Amino acid sequence: MNQTTKIINQAKKEGRKALLEPEAKTICLEYGIPVTKFKVASNQKEASKYADEIGYPIVLKIVSPDIIHKSDAGGVIVNLRTSDEVTSAYCKILDNVKKYKAEAKIVGVLVQEMAPNSTEVIVGAIKDPQFGQTVMFGLGGIFVEVLKDVNFRIAPLSVDDAKEMITELKAYPLLKGFRNTPPADIDALVGILCSTSRLVMDNPEIKELDLNPVLAYQKGAKIVDARIILE
Ligand code: ADP
Ligand code: MG
Repeated sequence: MNQTTKIINQAKKEGRKALLEPEAKTICLEYGIPVTKFKVASNQKEASKYADEIGYPIVLKIVSPDIIHKSDAGGVIVNLRTSDEVTSAYCKILDNVKKYKAEAKIVGVLVQEMAPNSTEVIVGAIKDPQFGQTVMFGLGGIFVEVLKDVNFRIAPLSVDDAKEMITELKAYPLLKGFRNTPPADIDALVGILCSTSRLVMDNPEIKELDLNPVLAYQKGAKIVDARIILE
């Protein structure tokens, strides 16, 4: 059995609808979707060991089935530059989360590579009651929230569908490169869209998927946060 099926079955068994970030990212990896390097630590010592292995700067995040929006809970600390900073941030995160929701079940702390800043895009999928699995693409921040500049296609996507979803955005000129913004690797984004389409087509029990943000680089792209919700 593949990792994706194992993770989904385990969540169902535990009665969980929302997969944890490391679970969602493991599924992404199995489908060739590039994610930040990560490991789940169960104590401070492990966290600093994993940080050394992954390389600095590091981001720490809470892993809890009871915390969906991690930063609201003080559960995300970015830009940690040394092993000492990682050990103190580990305690700080547990403290913050305890204050936010005392009864939250803690699975561990996610230690991950910090992705360099770049243009943020969003890849999503939603299971439409009428059309089935549908994939979404847009630019991050105000482009999605204020301007609603997003494109949808019913899965499965062809490479041409994926390209159109990108090039037909009003904000596409930004991805092609504009003033201080270098051009984004469109082929890498097309690859992520096609892999996301395969992922949701293979796994019809996925109700929602949210890769947000995806950092688009001149070469490649990286998923920083991943959410998957089951039916
Ligand atoms: P939330 O559950 O609150 O959405 P995220 O994992 O999205 O938590 O983290 C919040 C924000 O922190 C992200 O939107 C991003 O700006 C930043 N961030 C998180 N992880 C990383 C990372 N690995 N590299 C760079 N920035 C990150
Ligand atoms: Mg997020």
